[in-house]
Amino acid sequence: MVENKNEEATEKKSLNFIESAVENDIKEGKNGGRVQTRFPPEPNGYLHIGHAKAICMDFGMAEKHNGICNLRFDDTNPLKEDVEYVDSIMEDIRWLGFQWENVYYASDYFQYLWDFAIALIKEGKAYIDEQSADGIARQKGTPTEPGTNSPFRDRPVGQSLELFHKMNSGEIEEGAMVLRAKIDMAHSNMHFRDPIIYRVIKHPHHRTKDTWKAYPMYDFAHGQSDYVEGVTHSLCTLEFEVHRPLYDYFIDQLKAVPELVKEESYRPRQIEFNRLNLTYTVMSKRKLLTLVKENLVNGWDDPRMPTICGFRRRGYSPEAIRKFVDMIGYTKYEALNDISLLEAAVRNDLNKRATRVSAVLNPVKLIITNYPEGKVEEMETTNNPEDETAGKHTIEFSRELWIEREDFAENAPKKFFRMTPGQEVRLKSAYIVKCTGCKKNQAGEVQEIYCQYDPETKSGMPDSGRKVKGTLHWLSCAHCLPAEVRLYDRLFNVENPGAEPNVDFRELLNPDSLKILTNCFVEKYTTLLPPLSYLQFQRTGYFNIDKDATLDKLIFNRTVSLKDTWNKINNTQEK
Ligand code: ATP
Ligand code: MG
Repeated sequence: MVENKNEEATEKKSLNFIESAVENDIKEGKNGGRVQTRFPPEPNGYLHIGHAKAICMDFGMAEKHNGICNLRFDDTNPLKEDVEYVDSIMEDIRWLGFQWENVYYASDYFQYLWDFAIALIKEGKAYIDEQSADGIARQKGTPTEPGTNSPFRDRPVGQSLELFHKMNSGEIEEGAMVLRAKIDMAHSNMHFRDPIIYRVIKHPHHRTKDTWKAYPMYDFAHGQSDYVEGVTHSLCTLEFEVHRPLYDYFIDQLKAVPELVKEESYRPRQIEFNRLNLTYTVMSKRKLLTLVKENLVNGWDDPRMPTICGFRRRGYSPEAIRKFVDMIGYTKYEALNDISLLEAAVRNDLNKRATRVSAVLNPVKLIITNYPEGKVEEMETTNNPEDETAGKHTIEFSRELWIEREDFAENAPKKFFRMTPGQEVRLKSAYIVKCTGCKKNQAGEVQEIYCQYDPETKSGMPDSGRKVKGTLHWLSCAHCLPAEVRLYDRLFNVENPGAEPNVDFRELLNPDSLKILTNCFVEKYTTLLPPLSYLQFQRTGYFNIDKDATLDKLIFNRTVSLKDTWNKINNTQEK
């Protein structure tokens, strides 16, 4: 296989804009030259590959500058959050190869945020609005027209304080009132038009249970959480760019409350980068949750899902994912990343990592008519030609073998270098054989193929000078094991399912994204390897052992084919 061996050696990357900004801040001595980041997932779903991009940035930046990165669960909406997600998020981050300094929860700061909100109300900078969410939205105005002041905007401070307490004690129904920051209903940035900062949710929280009924909104929680923790660089995705002025506004307000303030010179800084979007899949947690809930896939770790646990189960390595994230880079422009780039990164990585074994996915019997019955030879085979330290193992050879049905043609076209009557091929790690014919059933299907071997051509023997163009993989019928093999394809039929107007995304699912082959055979050697082991089925693709596999029922997942045949097939179809 051709490898870009020089790729890593010659590549010297320039700093991306975030690295430059961080290095500048260090140079200028901001925050005492400290670097502290956080990864702030909302525990309302499993992590996907988009999150991996944020994780690599958050943890990577801290690592690079001897700083720290904390994990902070952004758990401000008790309706959607669950401990199941908290646990999976931690597992996935560790698997990607990162370690946080501390685990925090936004809910740790509910009291702090409450105190801050009270301070704002007392200063006349926040008020309780009794209008409905719809009513408030209608008054927002447009980017070119100012909004309308709420009739509650100038209510007395005492009233707002009293109602805010009632919002939290359970006396106020959900949606009946909210706390809004009093900023400017004519501001050119819509987020400044008296944003809602607290709402009532009467649902127990996964950590604080029934303590709170009033919950802070994202914009009122995120920056302040950064501030409490001492985050220096709050790195997030581009959609938060328009929120940044508000992030800064609340930090300014916070600094005006003596009880809440930290040292004068400290200030967190938000910097935004583009999201990772992949072709032929969706990245929205809401849509991924729909796929799971409606059983359109087999759970969050279905190998077709773009989730970290899905990729893990499919056989992607964390190194390949990190390499891909590094390849696509961080910019200020939204893009759609080609999934074949990710697959190329996976192939490239597994080529160095995967143990080579034989598997026959569509078997037909090959009988070597001049090989003694009952004789068994142990053939030696290399575990990984890319890695000498991976060693060797043996595979049994005998008179009756399985080979791939596609490797035989009774009437072969000109350049068919595989098994066909009269032609010689090499059986990998074994002998050269010459096909002598086949037996068919009444329907014309090939049932058995016959050949003769040349005992002087055993692999490793001095070269007889014979030119044989094809090498086939095989398994000894009496020595291999039955297996189920799952082949995966694109989850969706269109490049950007999220961008199709007026179509339910479910209708865009690829009905052939999973193909289960139940009549396959694999080498016994695979059972000596632990679950999730990286494998290459010779000449077929990269595979791994499914987590549900047992010795009685072997199951393998195709991680990725050896070559990017999918794109080729599609391109030819278009022509
Ligand atoms: P949703 O899908 O509900 O919008 P989210 O993707 O924003 O949720 P969070 O749990 O809030 O999910 O995300 C945690 C962090 O991961 C945030 O900093 C967010 O910016 C980042 N992130 C989320 N999706 C992507 C993505 N596709 N590419 C890069 N970073 C992402
Ligand atoms: Mg979010």
